[in-house]
Amino acid sequence: MKALDELTFDNRFARLGDAFSTHVLPEPLDAPRLVVASDAAMALLDLDPAVAETPVFAELFGGHKLWAEAEPRAMVYSGHQFGGYTPQLGDGRGLLLGEVYNQAGEHWDLHLKGAGMTPYSRMGDGRAVLRSSIREFLASEALHALGIPSSRALCVVGSDTPVWREKQERGAMVLRLAHSHVRFGHFEYFYYTKKPEQQAQLAEHVLNLHYPECREQPEPYLAMFREIVERNAEMIAKWQAYGFCHGVMNTDNMSILGITFDFGPFAFLDDFDAHFICNHSDHEGRYSFSNQVPIGQWNLSALAQALTPFISVDALKEALGLYLPLYQAHYLDLMRRRLGLTTAEDDDQALVERLLKLMQNSGVDYTLFFRRLGDEPAALAVTRLRDDFVDLAGFDAWAERYTARVARDGAYTEEQRRARMHAVNPLYILRNYLAQNAITAAESGDYSEVRRLHEVLSKPFEEQAGVEQYAQRPPDWGKHLEISCSS
Ligand code: AMP
Ligand code: MG
Repeated sequence: MKALDELTFDNRFARLGDAFSTHVLPEPLDAPRLVVASDAAMALLDLDPAVAETPVFAELFGGHKLWAEAEPRAMVYSGHQFGGYTPQLGDGRGLLLGEVYNQAGEHWDLHLKGAGMTPYSRMGDGRAVLRSSIREFLASEALHALGIPSSRALCVVGSDTPVWREKQERGAMVLRLAHSHVRFGHFEYFYYTKKPEQQAQLAEHVLNLHYPECREQPEPYLAMFREIVERNAEMIAKWQAYGFCHGVMNTDNMSILGITFDFGPFAFLDDFDAHFICNHSDHEGRYSFSNQVPIGQWNLSALAQALTPFISVDALKEALGLYLPLYQAHYLDLMRRRLGLTTAEDDDQALVERLLKLMQNSGVDYTLFFRRLGDEPAALAVTRLRDDFVDLAGFDAWAERYTARVARDGAYTEEQRRARMHAVNPLYILRNYLAQNAITAAESGDYSEVRRLHEVLSKPFEEQAGVEQYAQRPPDWGKHLEISCSS
């Protein structure tokens, strides 16, 4: 266990120089105080969880203090936003404080979001509000607990600093952890500004630090791109299988590591709805739930375009062609497991699709359906779940197919079925209304609800005592919350 002043820094991205990032000091928040910290994320830095409660912790992550070895930098990047190219974006309100090594030899970027203005702030104020910082914190840690690759969050620090959005709110900072903060948009920036030397430097940096195994391949850059395609296919398969809607899949929000990144108006589905749009400024539904799959490929094509100086167009196209089949395979594998199946049959895809159609038509709760399906033997579970469906004949036909399929799958005990299914079907997910309750309390100075919710979501598959209220469908007011996109 380390104390806060014992972190070991090695700031490799900062060393790339001023073409890649700009030195900027954090702008402190007034009266910084700890809102919530993640013990699991603290462990990634070998930090004793108790240090989160010390005043220096809130000072460090509220922008008042810095380690001597930290080198705070705002990164430059660009990206495609809603399909159109924006020539310059960059860290407008976040700073890469430095890169820290843990005892296991892993390194973690410390990124402080909401740290004040930078040369890339454009019209923004450089700040993040408490509401959006809590949402990012809860989502990062909840996705990780579900097994969905994501950036992590160490803590949220709140303050008295007024920040103006639609109304006056309070500023906050979230400390984000990731092995890299390089986005697709980093490559696009150097490609479109025609800076081949820097682009090559960036590509070498990412290859050497994050894809070293690709060095051994005959075409290292191509191998790296393939790996990025594969990781994105797997990440998006997990989003779809668990009902996660990102909301702003612009290429500046896509990580080069294939992790979920930059949380804004995201949402988990309550009722299953393939057409769900969580971002209320997304009028055309570009980033609707089901569109996440083709958009994943679109984003990878945008990255491929930026990699044309290193890889032939034919090879890039071939690698892009891997995306859909890989996505399909991961998705189907997860959905089979969610249905409690251990073997594969040709008709499984149709079985899943038919179920989703029925759920869509009846507005069935996506998370609870699968959890309850695993509570009991298949034949019994479907009779109990039947009442949730409007099209009873349709559901009965599906249920008959499903129970026959389960019978063919193999002989296992009720206990085995339950354990296997509960291990992949969460009881607790970050429903928007749960986040909203925690935010409302935190905005009035009570952080206990954020902390409790974080705790519950860190063990999403494990039934926990005394927290039944977190495993329920939303009340009417919480069903279609409009989450403000201004964050
Ligand atoms: P986002 O939609 O949060 O991914 O942000 C898109 C771009 O706008 C990034 O370059 C952000 O750094 C920048 N940005 C978002 N909010 C602010 C803000 N309040 N102040 C300055 N820049 C911001
Ligand atoms: Mg962003």
